[in-house]
Amino acid sequence: MHMLLKSEFARLLREAVRVSRQSPGTEICGLLVDTGRHLRFVQTRNNSRRRGGFAFSAQEVRRVVAAVKTSGQEVVGTFHSHPVGLPIPGPSDVEHAVDDSLMFLFDCIGRGGRLWNIRDGRAQPTRYGFAQRSHRPPNDGVERTGTSRSGQSQVVRQRRLVPAANAER
Ligand SMILES: [Zn+2]
Repeated sequence: MHMLLKSEFARLLREAVRVSRQSPGTEICGLLVDTGRHLRFVQTRNNSRRRGGFAFSAQEVRRVVAAVKTSGQEVVGTFHSHPVGLPIPGPSDVEHAVDDSLMFLFDCIGRGGRLWNIRDGRAQPTRYGFAQRSHRPPNDGVERTGTSRSGQSQVVRQRRLVPAANAER
């Protein structure tokens, strides 16, 4: 199961709702980064000129992919918000996704989100849980793994690398 940071999820959901209220139909978007312990949301500009859509800046994506790589992490998918629709990938969402990548959709109406794996032109729902941000206080040499609210240990499965070049689409 993929783990998300509750604080990041909540912050981006608020942002998605704020943006869709300010200018109805406007979506937020960004990249999903696997840190090795959880998925991180890295918000990027939405270059789409039409409402109810999103488009990445190839240049910005290249920059994020490079930065993430130097810290030993990897981009494993994307996220965007659905201001009015259900958090289910539409045909164009699936069509533009990298094969075998993750897609997180924020639901501005239901105030939630769903994680999907896009593979072979299909979207499969994928489970996720919430991890606490792992603090590293100076005195603590032991505590390294967080636990989710349900008490399950925080395990992040290793995923196949998504080629950086493909992540630009
Ligand atoms: Zn969509």
